[in-house]
Order: sequence, then structure tokens, then C-alpha cells
Amino acid sequence: MSTEVLAASATDVQQASASAPAQSNTVEKVNLLGMSRPQMEKFFEDLGEKKFRAGQVMKWIHQFFVTDFAEMTNISGKLREKLEKICEIKAPEVVHKNYSKDGTRKWVFRVGEGEGSLVETVLIPAEDKTGSRKTLCISSQVGCALDCSFCSTGKQGFQRDLTQAEIIGQLWMANYSYMEDVPVIERERSVTNVVMMGMGEPLLNYDAVLNAMRIMLDDFAYGMSKRRVTLSTSGVVPKIDQLAQDIDVALAISLHATNNELRDELVPINKKYPLEQLIAACQRYIGKDGNESARKHVTIEYVMLDGVNDHPEHAQQMIKLLKNLPSKINLIPFNPFPHAPYGRSSRNRIISFQKTLSDAGFVCTIRQTRGDDIDAACGQLVGQVADRTRRAEQWKKKVAAQNEIIRSQG
Ligand code: SAH
Ligand code: SF4
Repeated sequence: MSTEVLAASATDVQQASASAPAQSNTVEKVNLLGMSRPQMEKFFEDLGEKKFRAGQVMKWIHQFFVTDFAEMTNISGKLREKLEKICEIKAPEVVHKNYSKDGTRKWVFRVGEGEGSLVETVLIPAEDKTGSRKTLCISSQVGCALDCSFCSTGKQGFQRDLTQAEIIGQLWMANYSYMEDVPVIERERSVTNVVMMGMGEPLLNYDAVLNAMRIMLDDFAYGMSKRRVTLSTSGVVPKIDQLAQDIDVALAISLHATNNELRDELVPINKKYPLEQLIAACQRYIGKDGNESARKHVTIEYVMLDGVNDHPEHAQQMIKLLKNLPSKINLIPFNPFPHAPYGRSSRNRIISFQKTLSDAGFVCTIRQTRGDDIDAACGQLVGQVADRTRRAEQWKKKVAAQNEIIRSQG
């Protein structure tokens, strides 16, 4: 596959609810990458084709990583020609990729003009009793409007929602990175788990994230287990309830504080939906489905900020707060970024916090920091690439100015 095929323009065709293709030659092609099965079935029906074509095309895209319609051999030549004219299969453009010695992989995608239009995706491998996992951390927005005080994405502000194609394109690209040289027929998906924990608040880009997760679970696409797809939210309470109606995936909550006063400061959306409402929404999310669903427990994420939320009394507050919520707690050592107003809690502090929670009967893990050699920590690589882009742009301007002087001097 040529690199041109992979490199999408910034104007990825928006949410794939497209129906019949437009007639004019000037109209952009419809990107099939981001369409869920119902959306693609409707698309084919609108074209006057049978809807089972959707499943066939989805398999080519998401299981064999084919982007050229000519390679879709179980589709008639006539239909392939038609699709070539009006459709495309485009992942977002990779501007930077980095593969760490420990197996961590990271991509920075350009999703628009300007240095701020970058999003990142990180793949973290791990071994556990169920075998080897490859967990992909996917972004849902460019920047984020919620402005949590310890988060570098929040500091960027919000730019825009990612499209369905840009969201699922991150999973497509991560899988594809393992098989660029593998013959089409032998291609297999490598990513085993997805966490919607990259840049942005997934519940504020609800429809695109929901449809992208549907593609992840679809047997005609990635066929992932519902327990291996996790959505992380800082607590958009009404959308948690909506999610419970729409799909069965695992839920993670960015808690970060155990009382409203501190949480108002660290996670400002808490002012709108305070802790009592958030915990109640989590309880509703788990509901009565029990073992049959992905909702056996909620994962609680808690970033450890030195001297801010890591006191023994905070651990005690957490025990009370979570006592009626089946949960697993993940303590995250804070990843510093330039001008961050916090430091990382000491190892001892984190371990004693963990011990208090474990002694109270909670499953509590400490997130390992991985991929340090490629800045895989949340939001870091985008910062670095933006810096480099800025320096490169400043350099280009300087060279242009010097050339101008030379020209004017004859
Ligand atoms: N907006 C969603 C999902 C993206 S953030 C949410 O907040 O849940 C994914 C996780 O990374 C969140 O738990 C977030 O709090 C955490 N995080 C953000 N900045 C961090 C930092 N500097 N160090 C460690 N974890 C961070
Ligand atoms: Fe947004 Fe999540 Fe960062 Fe908060 S932690 S600013 S919700 S991305």
C-alpha cells in the first residue's frame, strides 16, 4: 500500500452518516473508514446495492487493512469502479511515530491545519495471566474544554471533535503498523484492548465515539470483546446514563479527588456534576446485568499529586466514597509537563496510599509508567512535536526573511 493512500487530508469526510453520494465532481469522496455497519448498510442501499456489501467492505477495511477497492476481490468489478469514484478509505495523516524499546508505540496524527491540530495515540504492550495484551489509548477530541488543572490536554483548550474516521483510524493505523509487510491474506489484528483515555473527553463527542466503539465490537470489523473496550470520563453524568442505554463497554472514571472542594479545583466539571451524582451514575451504569456484561465494576483513575490528594485522609475518604460501588482503583503517578503546577507523589506515598485501600478490601493497582524514552505519557509527545513544528516554522520564517534581504540587496 502506498503512503499516499494512508495520508488523509485534513478534511476527513465528517461523521459517516452520509447517505447517497453527491453528484458534483467537486464534492469530496465519502470516507468509508469511519462508518459503522448500520451506516454503511444504509450507504449501500442508497446506492441501490445489497446491504450485505457493507459487511464485505468492512472486513476488507478493518480485518485485512486494504484501502484500495481494486483489492476487494469478492466485489464485482463494476461496483468496485463505482466505489473508487465516490469513496475512499483514509486514515488520518501520521506526522510522527515512535516505537520504544519496551514495545510501546506512539503516533501523532495531524487532523487539521496549524500546530495545535495534532492528536496522539499510544499503544502499550503488557503480559498478564491471560497472555499478552496490546492496549491502545485513543484520543476523541483535539484538545479538551474541561480544563482539569493537572492535564496538559486541558491546558491546550478545545479545538474540535474528532470524526468517526479519525477515531477508528487510530485503531486501524495501530493494527496496520504490525503488518505493513504482511501479505493481505495473512493479516491479523494485534491490538487486544482499547481505552478511550487519550486526548479529549469522549462523552462530549458522544455520537462519533459511540459509533467508533460499535465498529470496535463489530464482528465484521475488529470483533473486540466488550470487556476490552473501556471509555474513560471525567464525569459527564447525563452521558453516562445515555451510554448505559446505547452500548455495553467498560467504564473508567477520572476521580482524582475524594471531596467536592478539592475535586472542584482539580476536575472543574465537578462543579456541575458533584461526587454524589457521579457515584450514583456509576452505580446505575453497573446496574443489574452482573457477569453477563462488561459492567462488573467501574475503574477508578486517581492521579497522584504530591501533597495535594495523596494524604492518608484522602485514602480514608475514598474508602467511604466507594463503599457501595464495585470498583477497581488505578493510582496514576502524575506525569509532569512544562509549567505544571504539581509534582508527582513519592513512590512511598503512593505505596502507602495503595496499602490503605488494599487493606480495606479494594483491588488497587499502580499504573506503570511506560515508554518514557518516547514521551508516551499523556499529552507529552504532542507538546514536543508542536514545539518542534514551531521551531521549524520559526526557522523557515527566518530563512525566508534572510532570502528576502539577499534578494532586495540584489
Ligand atoms: N477526558 C477523559 C479521558 C482522557 S484523560 C478523562 O479525563 O477521563 C485520560 C486519563 O489521563 C485521565 O484519568 C486523566 O486524568 C489522566 N491524566 C491527564 N493528565 C495527566 C497527567 N499529567 N499525569 C497523569 N495522568 C494524567
Ligand atoms: Fe479533558 Fe480528561 Fe484532560 Fe480533564 S483529564 S482536561 S477531561 S482530557
